[in-house]
Amino acid sequence: MSAKICSRCMAVFDGHKWFYDEGEHERLVRTRRAEATLCPGHERIEKRRIDGVVNLKGNFLKEHYDEAVNLINNIAEKQLHRNVAARVYNMKQNGNGLIVETTETSLAERIGKEFEKAFNGNLEISWLQDAEFVRVNWQRD
Ligand SMILES: [Zn+2]
Repeated sequence: MSAKICSRCMAVFDGHKWFYDEGEHERLVRTRRAEATLCPGHERIEKRRIDGVVNLKGNFLKEHYDEAVNLINNIAEKQLHRNVAARVYNMKQNGNGLIVETTETSLAERIGKEFEKAFNGNLEISWLQDAEFVRVNWQRD
């Protein structure tokens, strides 16, 4: 099987699996040996496939908003190196806090757990549709 590269990010397919590798991506672009396509993460984004919703709220969040956004970005970055299909689809602020939609259940779950670890608060994780969708609620007042 031939190599593939994602046209929207630095993900690379080596014939067996997708992984995130900026150096390898650049090399494959240079040598023109790889077919440009979408990685599993961008394919999910393209198809608007959302497997997880994280609802973060409470007064603590309002006072530590930038810190919270940084934490989400850090978690997403780490998870991306483990699984290129796990992406933040959308992150938006609403009146009560932040809503994060993810393309993978594991990323939504990880965001909830890392918030609890970093800031305490209350965490609730509900699995729906035979564990194919996860709803994560975290709150600290
Ligand atoms: Zn991609």
